[in-house]
Amino acid sequence: MANGICVFAENYNGNLEAVVAELVSAAHLIKEITGEKIKAIVVAKDCEKIIEEIKNLGVDEVYVVKTETDCSFQDDAVSKVIANMLERIEPSSVLVPATTISRSIFSRVAAKLECGLTADCTELKVSTREDGSFYIKQNKPSFGENVFVTIVTKEGCYPQMMTVRPGVYTAAEKVEEDKTEIHYLEDIVMQESKIKVLEVLPATNNTDSILSADIVLVGGRGAESEENFGLLKQVADKLGAAIGGTRPLADTGFIPFEHQIGQTGYTIRPRICISLGVSGAIQHTEGIKETKLFIAINKNEEAPIFNISDYGIVGDMKEVLESILNL
Ligand SMILES: Cc1cc2nc3c(=O)[nH]c(=O)nc-3n(C[C@H](O)[C@H](O)[C@H](O)COP(=O)(O)OP(=O)(O)OC[C@H]3O[C@@H](n4cnc5c(N)ncnc54)[C@H](O)[C@@H]3O)c2cc1C
Repeated sequence: MANGICVFAENYNGNLEAVVAELVSAAHLIKEITGEKIKAIVVAKDCEKIIEEIKNLGVDEVYVVKTETDCSFQDDAVSKVIANMLERIEPSSVLVPATTISRSIFSRVAAKLECGLTADCTELKVSTREDGSFYIKQNKPSFGENVFVTIVTKEGCYPQMMTVRPGVYTAAEKVEEDKTEIHYLEDIVMQESKIKVLEVLPATNNTDSILSADIVLVGGRGAESEENFGLLKQVADKLGAAIGGTRPLADTGFIPFEHQIGQTGYTIRPRICISLGVSGAIQHTEGIKETKLFIAINKNEEAPIFNISDYGIVGDMKEVLESILNL
């Protein structure tokens, strides 16, 4: 009988990826209803620090396969190991970060286990069937991000497997108590990968910058000119802030999609968020509502963005940005 909520502990260079703490948080919410144990799965060569970090997030069990070689980009080999681990653990659900690496690994795992995989969920909700059994409603944007759909794994098909978009859940807090059981699955051995890493280059996608930044400047359609966007960039440099934006700004290519904020983009939780030329549509404000201090600048005093801001400036963003640069 499938039981337990598995969380894939994605890691790189011996460190746990930050998004894993968010997934553990989602797992805790599921556990509150289903009462199942949270089981992290770790596949890594240098796994000691990773195990320590994941234990601190309050998971019940950690299942580990320690490999002889580095696992980076060895997706064919790693996916076989994980499929074997999941056959052994038999969880009812598996939460996976919606990152490039995890997507590549778990599409292969899903094919091996013939269980399906819902990609890029922004909300997980537990529901109960008539017979009292639980299942997860996997909500996600779809059809070019224009509609929200709820996907449910076919009854009787386990595990229910889903990738979850980074930034959607608040990271799980560190716990003091250590009750985590560690299980080394020594008989599962990673085979040689057919993928050879020739060179490692620095990442160009810096979504992490908006997710971890202390200050984020968010541009809207009002920033859609070379002049206004250029000023916004200069102020961001001056404040050491990351730049995010609304959907129009992503659609017109001023920012990459990975920096779109909102229901179908990312959720940010900075200390300070300054929004410029943004009207305040609900699909956007969903992604900024966790901001601690929110300042809005808009030339229309009736703009709905002022209803949710702590401070508002009614004015042309160009003039406001120039004044900040002249300070
Ligand atoms: C299913 C669905 C999902 C969506 N997901 C997202 C999402 O994830 N993220 C997202 O952002 N949107 C999303 N949208 C789109 C969303 O509904 C809005 O259309 C979008 O957020 C509007 O962006 P905006 O505020 O930049 O533009 P507008 O609504 O056009 O507002 C521009 C604002 O800028 C002000 N302005 C113009 N010039 C200046 C200036 N010089 N100085 C100061 N102010 C100025 C104007 O007064 C206006 O208020 C989604 C829509 C749908 C249907």
